[in-house]
Amino acid sequence: MLRLSEAIRLGALLHRQCFGASCAFDHEGAVVATCALSGAIDAGYQAQRRDLSVLSARCPLGCPYRLTRAALVVHLNDGHQWTRDQIADHLAQLEAADERRASPPRLAAVDPVGRAGQEGATRGTVDFET
Ligand SMILES: [Zn+2]
Repeated sequence: MLRLSEAIRLGALLHRQCFGASCAFDHEGAVVATCALSGAIDAGYQAQRRDLSVLSARCPLGCPYRLTRAALVVHLNDGHQWTRDQIADHLAQLEAADERRASPPRLAAVDPVGRAGQEGATRGTVDFET
C-alpha cells in the first residue's frame, strides 16, 4: 500500500505545487498544479479512514490544535507553504512512529534464569531485537 508520504513525493513529479486550492487549472481546464494532498491522490494514494477521521497529529510548528493526518497535509501546504518534500519528510516520521506502535519489538531471546557463566549477568534478562 502506498504511504501518504510516498504519494506526496510521486505527486510532486506530476504537477507543480499550488497553495490555497486543491488544484490550479490552465485556461483550457487542464490541471497544472496541485496541493500536496491532491497531488498524492493523483499519484494513486487512497486515503485511509484514519487519515480523514482520527485526530492524530499536531502541527510541527506549534499551532495550537490537533489535526487529522489529511488536514495536517493541507495545513502545512497552505498555512505554512511547506514544500512537498518537507511535508513528505514530516509524514514519513509520523508513519514510522505508527509502524513502531503497530508492531512492538520482537523478543529475540528470553533467558529467565540469567546468563549462566557471564559475570555480572542479571537474572531474567530479556534482549530485544532493534
Ligand atoms: Zn501550523
